[in-house]
Amino acid sequence: MVRRTEKSIKKLSRNRWWLTIPIVIFLSICTYQLLVVSMRGLIYYIMEKSLEEDYLRASDLMEMYEYAEKNNDINVKKFLGLNEREWFVTDREGTILDGDSENTCGENSAVLTKMDFISEITVHEDLESDVLYISNGGLAIRYKKLFKEIDHSFEETPETELPDEMKDLSEEEMDEHDLMLVSRNLEDRASFPVWAEIPMQDGRIFMAKIFFRVDAGDLTVVVIAVAVLFLFLFILFVYLVIRTIRLRRKQKKLTLLYHTDEITGGYNWKWMHAAGERYLKKKKTAKMNFAMLDIDFDQYRNYCICHTVEEGEKLLEKLDEVIGNNIAKKEMSAHYGSASFAVLLRYDREEELLERVKALIGSLEQAAPGQRVRFHVGIDLIPASLNENGRAVKRKKVDLETLYNNANAARMTLESKAESAVQIFDSGLVEEQKWNLSVQENQEKALRAEEFVVYYQPKYDPRTNMLSGAEALIRWNSPELGFVSPGRFIPIFENNGFITEIDHYMIRHVAADQKKWLDQGYHLVPVSVNVSRAHFAENDLAEQIRDMVDEAGTPHRYIEIELTESAFFDDKKALVSTIRKLKKYGFTVSMDDFGSGYSSLNSLKDMPLDVLKLDAEFFRGDVEDSRGEIVVSEAIRLAKSLHMRTVAEGVEIKKQVDFLADQGCDMIQGYYYAKPMPGEEYEVRMKTGFKDPEAEKMNEEMDRKTEEAGQSGEQAGESI
Ligand code: C2E
Ligand code: CA
Ligand code: CA
Repeated sequence: MVRRTEKSIKKLSRNRWWLTIPIVIFLSICTYQLLVVSMRGLIYYIMEKSLEEDYLRASDLMEMYEYAEKNNDINVKKFLGLNEREWFVTDREGTILDGDSENTCGENSAVLTKMDFISEITVHEDLESDVLYISNGGLAIRYKKLFKEIDHSFEETPETELPDEMKDLSEEEMDEHDLMLVSRNLEDRASFPVWAEIPMQDGRIFMAKIFFRVDAGDLTVVVIAVAVLFLFLFILFVYLVIRTIRLRRKQKKLTLLYHTDEITGGYNWKWMHAAGERYLKKKKTAKMNFAMLDIDFDQYRNYCICHTVEEGEKLLEKLDEVIGNNIAKKEMSAHYGSASFAVLLRYDREEELLERVKALIGSLEQAAPGQRVRFHVGIDLIPASLNENGRAVKRKKVDLETLYNNANAARMTLESKAESAVQIFDSGLVEEQKWNLSVQENQEKALRAEEFVVYYQPKYDPRTNMLSGAEALIRWNSPELGFVSPGRFIPIFENNGFITEIDHYMIRHVAADQKKWLDQGYHLVPVSVNVSRAHFAENDLAEQIRDMVDEAGTPHRYIEIELTESAFFDDKKALVSTIRKLKKYGFTVSMDDFGSGYSSLNSLKDMPLDVLKLDAEFFRGDVEDSRGEIVVSEAIRLAKSLHMRTVAEGVEIKKQVDFLADQGCDMIQGYYYAKPMPGEEYEVRMKTGFKDPEAEKMNEEMDRKTEEAGQSGEQAGESI
């Protein structure tokens, strides 16, 4: 899930905001091109319009020339001579026949077809013009020059002067000859010449200098048009830039929001998940060792109950800050959820890492002054990624979730610890997790299929060597998991609550077995059944047990209930009342594992128990330990003063048996007498009743010796 959302946020933050940059560049180029093209278009349009005008006037001049030639009109000829327009006449081959001007007509020519008043005209460049020239068969403009010229001509527009001869002509006469032709340098105009070919009727060509003209009005249109276009594009450009910046900011904000933890205000796991994986995959980090930590503020829930949830969250915020202050720049931390933090540390040596983690725990503990808080830390080591030659190679696959889960699995093993503690993950833990899973997967079916088997471990009176009791111990004969001893599954069932089913199962089976044996005439002794502490939450536990035993029809005196010492920590009142009820119903009640873990001397005071089972730990280690002996004998004495019987568990040596017998211990349950055994074997024990392992051993020794003697006799006989 995290991965999927992370992908979308990545996509979102990758949102091609930077694409706007090439777009803007592209648009700028387009704008420039568009400006050039539109300017050129406009100038051409304006020029061609003026060219059209001037071409028509030049054509008139040509007609006047033809007319004057035909009619030999001196006035007209005079006018032609006076006319300011430069012209000359050539034959078809281009030889000049007549002319009024210096020939500045260049070789390069172009055919203009755009003008709609005639199909086409041919123009030649004017060698004196710097602005217009012929290129690729068309007219081209040198822009810089053009503008310079325009500027220049606007600044220094000379007075329009009519030639003296013309000054006498009346206005009508001037109109008649279209004197506009003469007024070349009208104010606010700039003109640029080309030579136009005007065909004559007889095939000669009238060459006339005609002018492109630009006036201030035209220029204003061009400038306004260009300015509008430019402004439009500029606005577009600015809009795009602003939009990009805004989008980027929004993305950043959104990403930050997505990566911020709601409670601590620091980073959350989503951030660390993405950033951590990216970082660990970098080439430069390949040669470094990292450690993924799961730091859990143990009993956070209790803290919230004692204080308030708000206070609890404030503390989490503070813890996040403390972690942040204790890690280096390139290391990472995040609030994972509830009261857990994920931290990624760098380290060189494992011992140094552990020291650092312990120091960090110390700082965390100080975050709640005056309070006893504890932290459990699980660590998964991420060693440097090296190839066979010891060279660092980039980590290709990094799954931070798995690394955290491993750290978490290591941390979970500390759950029962009442102090702050650290645990490093190893592959054994994975196996343990797998085992846990398969046990839980199979539990229900196992119960239905009666895969759980009751084993009996006899208890003997050390003074008489007579069978005087037994403890029922569970075994799991599983087709999937094999023959499993309780140490491997009882703690799992205690954790997941299935233990209550197991205890019921055991009570039912033991009661049924006892009833069966009673009916078969065996000499019955009480059998004790373990009842887990999880049961004591139930008010009617005593009634439940009574009903189950009654269902089998077993007299209550043949059933004993063993309570573990840890059960005595829970609700004392409920426990006392259950014990009282059980006793009232006629069951024997014993305290299991007395002396292990926490001392419950105090609970002895209030609990009306029948039997005290001395924990096997008393009989481990040095047999000659006089202090140990003192403790055991005093415990037995204490039990006696409280009118309780004693059972010593886990006794394996004759010397201990003798000592316990001397001290007045009532029963011994240990390998010295017997290991836990299936019901059929236990039946044999019931039949015999008496067991003296020492005597059995001596008998066995004698048998062996006799056998050996017999064998050597045979051999001796053979050799004779
Ligand atoms: P426990 O109730 O203290 O049971 C005594 C354990 O000590 C048994 O282990 C027994 O086999 C072992 N033991 C007895 N004598 C000796 C000895 O001389 N030397 C050594 N080394 N060990 C000895 P087991 O059967 O593996 O049971 C382990 C624990 O599992 C039990 O400890 C009990 O806490 C739990 N358990 C077993 N069966 C049940 C059950 O039916 N219900 C519940 N709730 N717990 C059970
Ligand atoms: Ca027990
Ligand atoms: Ca025990």
